[in-house]
Amino acid sequence: MPTPPEQPVPPVQLLNRRRSSHFGPPAPCVLCGTTTPLRSHAKEPDHKICAELWNAAYRGETGFVSDPPKGGQATDHA
Ligand SMILES: [Zn+2]
Repeated sequence: MPTPPEQPVPPVQLLNRRRSSHFGPPAPCVLCGTTTPLRSHAKEPDHKICAELWNAAYRGETGFVSDPPKGGQATDHA
């Protein structure tokens, strides 16, 4: 019995936000408007998941970026 084709789901690149600088006073998310204590790399209030979905929706544009990896594991070293 053939299985139906699965819905194509765009892969979402998960962001790395381990630094304390990604937190601040509650403010409206720039993407969904809901209050969040989270901050993007550009210090804008946003949810991590909102940023990840934005990146997936606007692939190729300069969007939200991860923290640089801490030593040793870099895959994009200059
Ligand atoms: Zn949001």
